[in-house]
Amino acid sequence: MASYFDEHNCEPLNSEREVRTNMLLELARGGGPGPGSLFNRMDFEHLGLVVDWDHHLPPPAAKAVVNNLPRTVISSSQAELKCPVCLVEFEEEETAIELPCHHLFHSSCILPWLSKTNSCPLCRHELPTDDDTYEQHRQDKARKQQQQHRLESLHGAMYT
Ligand SMILES: [Zn+2]
Ligand SMILES: [Zn+2]
Repeated sequence: MASYFDEHNCEPLNSEREVRTNMLLELARGGGPGPGSLFNRMDFEHLGLVVDWDHHLPPPAAKAVVNNLPRTVISSSQAELKCPVCLVEFEEEETAIELPCHHLFHSSCILPWLSKTNSCPLCRHELPTDDDTYEQHRQDKARKQQQQHRLESLHGAMYT
């Protein structure tokens, strides 16, 4: 008998998401600036990393936001943590950048990344951008999701 997950295709979806997350990290590691970079739209589409934003990579994080990201001095209890981009352990007293999702990175690892796109390479938490059309798109998407949610609760209210 087929399980619920087989029938609903849940498991492949989840692992696909995991693969995508790992690819983002791979890109963060290897995606230096310049023409040899993996980081362009073509390659992104190739890798199946097309994001919802009309098949474009989200724009860079807003400069003001990046400049104001909290700098954290690594404490002895954090010293065993690794920077997710370069996989090097932080050293005590070293300064790291903390994203709003509380992931820590070397500034030299995360700043080049955030100048290309706006999300945490580890969990895809999005930072605000300077791009009006993208922000507009994000608002539209949130509104649609809310609408969908309202419809679903309405449906629930009518049939229960
Ligand atoms: Zn690093
Ligand atoms: Zn994160």
